[in-house]
Amino acid sequence: MIFFSGKKHNISTLLSLSISVLIIFSTVLFTSCSKEETDKWLNEIFGMLNYEVFGDNIDGEAKLKMHVIDIGQGDSLLIQCGESNVLIDCGENGMGDAVLDYLHRAGVSHLDWIIGTHPHSDHIGGMDTVIKSDELSIDHVMMPQLPKTMTPTTVTYTDVLKAIKKKNLKITRPVPGTEYNFDGVTMLVLSPEKKAKYEELNDYSIVLKFTYKDVSVLTGGDASKLIERQLITLDYDLSADIYKVSHHGGKDGNSQEYLSEINPRYAAISVGENNKYGHPKNEVLKRLDKLGCEIFRTDLDGDIVFETDGRNISVIVSKQ
Ligand SMILES: [Zn+2]
Repeated sequence: MIFFSGKKHNISTLLSLSISVLIIFSTVLFTSCSKEETDKWLNEIFGMLNYEVFGDNIDGEAKLKMHVIDIGQGDSLLIQCGESNVLIDCGENGMGDAVLDYLHRAGVSHLDWIIGTHPHSDHIGGMDTVIKSDELSIDHVMMPQLPKTMTPTTVTYTDVLKAIKKKNLKITRPVPGTEYNFDGVTMLVLSPEKKAKYEELNDYSIVLKFTYKDVSVLTGGDASKLIERQLITLDYDLSADIYKVSHHGGKDGNSQEYLSEINPRYAAISVGENNKYGHPKNEVLKRLDKLGCEIFRTDLDGDIVFETDGRNISVIVSKQ
């Protein structure tokens, strides 16, 4: 605010001063527009302007956003592009409302896809609550096909199936090599293999690669080294700029070989503070470090949002 006090100004001085102020004000308003917009949506999502930005500057529109939602020990990712929204996992039982709250703050009332990577409670626990919400419309659900012997009988799992049925949704099974396209993004299914039989439920995790222009994101639930080796053998292009680290940074996955194939610029680990599993494991952090990759963790950084215009990537975290 500018105040005039005590001094006398002649008309021409006042006029030229007013014009200068107007020019400066318009320039500030114009150049800070995208910053203001960023502030606005971050304020809505994070509830306050306590955030930090890393990575590239994005001048134009950041069309693709990946949110790693801080829901403690578990996974919940929101991928947005244009009007399209994909939600991958919903955290533990009792986290459904926190996920819904985040979606609400992010202005999401429609999901093109809701994906349960595999039926462990830290991934699908909150999924029934999210599916049942009256404030959310959902087009498609994807969950892995399991052999009868592996199908969980847990309340967590049956609750999700009931919610899906109640909303008249059908489950789409992942078929490797299948691509889904929305708003310029390609979502490619990499795993699990159809009719595969694994000993661990984690290995049925749906592994996905999202590509928007020059930028790609790899996500993979809790798949272990067995799947990693399989994906390398199958000769998929696993390279990705952003890697959502599998199994919360567990060392049963995230082999050096696999991480080198991905060679990410950024890694995001969804992990609970002081969790009983000791996630993320030091070995995995060291392997990622070796690749010169920048690591973000929900236990230290809170919610993590990657945004890109298809070339540049910026990373915004909700706490420091
Ligand atoms: Zn998990």
